[in-house]
Amino acid sequence: MKKISLLGATGSIGQQTLDVIKCHPDQFQLVAMSFGSNLELGRKAISNFSPSLVAVNDFNAYSQLKEEFQNITFTYGAEGLIEAAVISEAEIVVNAVVGSVGLLPTLKAIECKKTIALANKETLVTAGHLVTEHARIYGVDLLPVDSEHSAIFQCLQGENPKSLERLIVTASGGSFRDRKREELADVTVDEALNHPNWSMGAKITIDSATMMNKGLEVIEAHWLFDLPYEKIEVLLHKESIIHSMAEFHDRSVIAQLGSPDMRVPIQYALSYPERLPLSSTKQLNLWEVGKLHFEKADFERYRCLQFAYDSGKIGGTMPTVLNAANEEAVGAFLKGQIAFLQIEDLIDKALTKHSVISSPDLHIIQEVDKETRQFVQTLYS
Ligand code: NDP
Ligand code: MG
Repeated sequence: MKKISLLGATGSIGQQTLDVIKCHPDQFQLVAMSFGSNLELGRKAISNFSPSLVAVNDFNAYSQLKEEFQNITFTYGAEGLIEAAVISEAEIVVNAVVGSVGLLPTLKAIECKKTIALANKETLVTAGHLVTEHARIYGVDLLPVDSEHSAIFQCLQGENPKSLERLIVTASGGSFRDRKREELADVTVDEALNHPNWSMGAKITIDSATMMNKGLEVIEAHWLFDLPYEKIEVLLHKESIIHSMAEFHDRSVIAQLGSPDMRVPIQYALSYPERLPLSSTKQLNLWEVGKLHFEKADFERYRCLQFAYDSGKIGGTMPTVLNAANEEAVGAFLKGQIAFLQIEDLIDKALTKHSVISSPDLHIIQEVDKETRQFVQTLYS
C-alpha cells in the first residue's frame, strides 16, 4: 500500500489523482491533502478519503472544516501546505498546486525523502537547478506527471540515458491554434479557456493558448532529462495522441501514444515502476483517429515559446522571471484586466528589464519572483 499526500486536491490534476486512488483502494491510500479555497470539493474529498491531515489555504474554509470534521487535523496557509508535504506517514507527495507556490513544499518533501510525483511544472521552471540538485543529494525520485514528460520517461525505461539524442515534445496548439496572430487581439477569456483536447485548470489552459505551456515544458524537460535546449524540440500535433518522443543515437525514435487522459500519466507516476489497469480510460483505436498531423512550431506566431527557450538558455534567474511574469500576466488576463496579446508584452518587458543573476539560491529566487510580480503589476494597474 503506497501512502500519498496530495497537494492541490481540488484542482483538475488533484481530482483526477483522487479518481486513480479510488480505482485502486488496495494499492493507494490518501493520508494527507491540501487545497486552496474550494470548500465544496475539499469537503467531498475529506468525506470520501478521510485523510489524517488537511491543509487549507483559505482561512474561512479552514475554520469551517475544522468545526465539521473534529477527528481530522487541519493546518492553514503556506506553513500548512508544507506540513502536508512533509507528513511522516506519506511516502509519495503528488504536487498538483498551480504556480511557484509549489516550490517550497517540493524542496521540503525532498528533504524528508518523499518520492515526488510532480505536476507543478512551475517548480522546475522557477528553480530547476535547486530542485534537481536537492533530489540528487537526498536520493529522491522526481516522477513526471505532465503527460509529455511522462511519455518521455516511459520511452526511456530500460534505455541508457547516454544514448539519448533528442526529445520531441508534442503540442496541441491550444484554443487558438486555427487562428492567425492578427485574430488574437480581441479574444475573450471564455474563448481562451475552451481547449480543444484537454480539460484543465484555468492557468494552464491560458498557457496552452499562448504556447507558454510548451515553453515551460521545454524547461521542465531540460531539468528532468538533463539535455541541452538545442536537443529539445517542439512539434505541433493537434490530435494529442502521441504524447512525446525520444530519439536515440541510432536514429530510433520511440513514442508513447494513448487517448488524451491525464489519469494515465498520474497513475504511472503513482504505480511506477509497475503498471496498473485503468479500464475507465478510452482505448486508443488509431483507425478511429484516421490521421495524425504534424507541423513545425512557429516561433513568431508563438512568442512565448521563444521567450522560454531564450530564458532557459540564459539560465540563472531568467526562467524565474519568465515564470513569475507569466503567472502575473495570466492572472491579470483571467480577471479581465489586460488583453490576450498583452500577456506576451508584459513578459517581454519583465525579461528585458531583468539583469540575470547566475546560480541563484532559494532566497534570491524568492526575491526575484516577488520583484517581478510587483514590476508586472505596475505595467497594467
Ligand atoms: P487547478 O487550478 O485546477 O488546481 C490548482 C490546485 O491548487 C487547486 O487545488 C487549488 O485550490 C490549489 N491552490 C491554488 N493556489 C494555492 C495556494 N496558494 N496554496 C495552496 N493551494 C493552492 O490547476 P491544475 O490541476 O490544472 O494544474 C496543477 C498543476 O499541474 C499546474 O502546475 C499545471 O501546470 C500542471 N499540469 C496540469 C495539467 C492538467 O491537465 N490540468 C496537465 C499537466 C500539468 P482551490 O481550487 O481549492 O483554491
Ligand atoms: Mg503537458
